[in-house]
Amino acid sequence: MQNYKIAIVGSGIIGMTLALQLSAINHINITLFGKKPKYSEFKTTAILATSFDIYQQLLGLTVPHPQISELKKFKIIDELKPKKKIIDFDATEINLNSFAYNIRDNYLADRLYEEVKNNNSITYKSEFIKGLEDGLDKTILYTSHGSVGYDLVIGADGRNSVIRQLAGINFSKKTYKENILVTEIEHSNQNNNTSFEIQRNGSLLTSVPTGDKKSAIVMIDQSQIIEKMTVDALDKIIRDSLLPYLGKTKVNKRYSTFPSQTINAEKLFRNRVMLVGESAHVIPPIGAQGLNLGLRDIITFCKILSDNERKNPGSKTILSSYNNLRWLDIYKRYKSVNLLYQSMMSNNAAYSALRNIGFLTLNKSKRMKKTLLSEGLSVNN
Ligand SMILES: Cc1cc2nc3c(=O)[nH]c(=O)nc-3n(C[C@H](O)[C@H](O)[C@H](O)COP(=O)(O)OP(=O)(O)OC[C@H]3O[C@@H](n4cnc5c(N)ncnc54)[C@H](O)[C@@H]3O)c2cc1C
Repeated sequence: MQNYKIAIVGSGIIGMTLALQLSAINHINITLFGKKPKYSEFKTTAILATSFDIYQQLLGLTVPHPQISELKKFKIIDELKPKKKIIDFDATEINLNSFAYNIRDNYLADRLYEEVKNNNSITYKSEFIKGLEDGLDKTILYTSHGSVGYDLVIGADGRNSVIRQLAGINFSKKTYKENILVTEIEHSNQNNNTSFEIQRNGSLLTSVPTGDKKSAIVMIDQSQIIEKMTVDALDKIIRDSLLPYLGKTKVNKRYSTFPSQTINAEKLFRNRVMLVGESAHVIPPIGAQGLNLGLRDIITFCKILSDNERKNPGSKTILSSYNNLRWLDIYKRYKSVNLLYQSMMSNNAAYSALRNIGFLTLNKSKRMKKTLLSEGLSVNN
């Protein structure tokens, strides 16, 4: 059988996961381009139970594990009105042990990097891509060391994707007026594998377990508030907000910030170039959807290749199938997460009404809760 050449550009979590997953297919030679990634020390990712298999299979990750915290329950606390409204979600409601597994990005990236370096089927090049010439038969990539042609080039180069730009794939982008702050806290009460999400008008504070008495913090608030945030002010906000749930808290003296953005590529491929992960879609970090969407891109693409062993991976049939199979899932998450985000961040009466209806319905109907949870976890995908 003919061997095909695929280049993956971007060695972030998605690029490395894709390279390892594709390396099991015999007739494909993979080259992975990019430097070893370094994420914020506070950045953790909740990998949904429905996507976690991929890391059991590639890295042998299982729980219990000192670097992985199970997320079994979450509590949404709506402080929009003087009277708090609380909704509890429990993984057992949908017959799961855990909703998700929270893992530090740097730990996951280090494990993936080791595996990539030890994998003889992956040629790893610690180089950045400078140019691309997209043709119908081959796509040529340029680095400072020269140029090589590939049957398929996959952009896994994140939200500011150079590959998306060089291939001329149109996309929409919105930068919200809020910023995102991440840090970590220690607390006097056990979190009991529970994540707490406090919604206020225009801000959101979420804690996600990283240990029994440790949690990662994700705070979304107006950019000017985040920019001027002092450690004392942050300490007070977290203390006042989480005291009833986690007891006394102590916040780390450092934190990282990110812009709050959404990006949606019009199409997931053009000629012999395709996109995965954040090069194709970026959504605000609510409901643990971002990386999980990227993992589903990978799972879908690998399944298409194994179902079509003899086909050129850069052929229009393969790339159209990928686009068609992924489009709806991405579009649904993009729309629902952005709507939820705007309903939390906006003072607009229509959004507040929508949120109230949502809360009332979920509190009254077990069936609606189950549907929402299954949909959020893509249980049926
Ligand atoms: C605060 C926060 C919390 C989040 N929490 C969650 C969560 O709980 N659950 C969830 O599912 N998702 C979450 N996400 C989303 C998740 O972090 C991202 O979807 C994921 O990290 C994106 O991975 P990626 O590999 O696509 O992109 P990146 O991690 O950005 O990797 C892209 C890589 O490409 C490289 N690169 C760029 N240009 C080039 C080039 N020209 N040549 C070669 N290499 C290049 C970069 O150096 C980088 O290493 C969160 C996001 C944020 C901001």
